[in-house]
Amino acid sequence: MNTVKKEASLLVQGYEVVIGFETHAQLATKSKIFSRAPIAFGAEPNTQACAVDLALPGTLPVMNREAVAHAIRLGLALGSHIAEHSVFARKNYFYPDLPKGYQISQFEIPVVQGGEVSFFLGEEKKTVRLVRAHLEEDAGKSLHEDFVGQSGIDLNRAGTPLLEIVTEPDMRSSAEAVAYAKELHKIVTWIGICDGNMQEGSFRCDANVSVRKPGEPLGTRREIKNLNSFKFMQQAIDYEVRWQIEQIGDGHSIQQATVLFDPDTGETRAMRTKEDAADYRYFPDPDLPPLVIAQEWVEEVKATMPELPRQMAERFVREYTLPEYDSTTLTQSPAMAAYFEIAAKASGQAKMASNWIMGEVSRRLNAEDREIENAPVSAEQLAALLQRIADGTVSNNAAKQVFELMWSESAPRGPVVHVASGDAVGQGAVVSGVAQIDAIIEAKGLKQMNDSGALEAIIDEVMAANTPMVEQFRAGKDKAFNALVGMVMKASKGKANPQQVNDVLRQKLQ
Ligand code: ADP
Ligand code: MG
Repeated sequence: MNTVKKEASLLVQGYEVVIGFETHAQLATKSKIFSRAPIAFGAEPNTQACAVDLALPGTLPVMNREAVAHAIRLGLALGSHIAEHSVFARKNYFYPDLPKGYQISQFEIPVVQGGEVSFFLGEEKKTVRLVRAHLEEDAGKSLHEDFVGQSGIDLNRAGTPLLEIVTEPDMRSSAEAVAYAKELHKIVTWIGICDGNMQEGSFRCDANVSVRKPGEPLGTRREIKNLNSFKFMQQAIDYEVRWQIEQIGDGHSIQQATVLFDPDTGETRAMRTKEDAADYRYFPDPDLPPLVIAQEWVEEVKATMPELPRQMAERFVREYTLPEYDSTTLTQSPAMAAYFEIAAKASGQAKMASNWIMGEVSRRLNAEDREIENAPVSAEQLAALLQRIADGTVSNNAAKQVFELMWSESAPRGPVVHVASGDAVGQGAVVSGVAQIDAIIEAKGLKQMNDSGALEAIIDEVMAANTPMVEQFRAGKDKAFNALVGMVMKASKGKANPQQVNDVLRQKLQ
């Protein structure tokens, strides 16, 4: 296994924080991992469980090929070893929502082994090593109907395919843990193996947390279960770290335990003391043969892999000479990356496109809680607007007004289709975007003043009306210059080209 050197880490009250993650990603297959029942979320209780999921006697599990393909995709994305031969095991425990009395999982030989996840924490590049990712089935759900004082069991979720992704204890702060989880979330959704819906439980994280004095062996960990929002993740880990340090400070030792986070109180509390692997009496499932993955299958899956976010970000730096920060931000989702590429290619103004997408476009999307897939201004329309800034037709400020008008007047749009590098973009759409923008510019009188005679007249007027300021500038007060530029811009109703104002004004003052 590869080794990653850890630099001196941040301490909390003299303690080093150590975190390892176990993440359950629900695989976006049509049917369950060992049966043909559907896995759609939110159906009437017990309408999506078949005889296999109900563990009726005489039924047998049959492996879902697509679930295995998803595991291969993850392994390829994270540089893991994909086992040619892996084994399903029974993890035995009793719970009302587990009718078989055991969960089918993988124990000694998981399908995905090793690999790593890299991401930026601020300016710093971090790498978290993976131990493994294994396939397993989910259990049903116990529903506690408080108002009738009864509990029920819904087995719709029983047999839903999960990939449990386990890291080494490599993280050293709650911020790093959240950044890891966000990166992993981005990857599983990007490669299409998980819908990433955290509210519906499609991506849930267990955070193993311990503290130690620097240089000491690892402390005893407590495992915070089922964190299904990034915000709670951070709060839960921070609380847990404070709690453990306080316990140790008071002379207590930490007991290994499974804990739950309560978002209402912001506290973690123990649910049960943690079982050891031995308690589960793992043994290979005799109903399932070993899972064999031929190299040809891996190659087949590899051929369908998209360009990954990190590779794409590196390409954006190369191809569009964007700063690393821009390229990382623009590769948050395939849709955002596609939007950028269309706007950059069609306008020929990559950096400007990046600025607008990270600025105006993101600001409007956030304010309206929309995804870029549904942006009312298309990438082609943005490209057309950028062309009009670049050719001097409108100033940046006037362009913002045009953008606002287009945004509020356009109907929501369908999804942006990804453009592979080198593809031609929709020039037709850009042309019609330009026509639309020119109409708005005309109607609202936003055209930048490019007539130097008219501009000189305005400058003369402003200078005549502000002789004290002109004197100040000539006496060496540079600030007076900016004030004069401001007045000229105002007198032109914002239509003058700021660069031109600068040049002409400076000439006249000298
Ligand atoms: P188990 O078999 O009990 O689930 P594992 O060895 O598989 O335990 O570890 C589970 C998770 O806990 C892994 O993500 C691992 O990195 C993490 N972990 C192990 N020891 C510690 C520790 N001392 N502090 C924090 N995390 C830990
Ligand atoms: Mg484990």
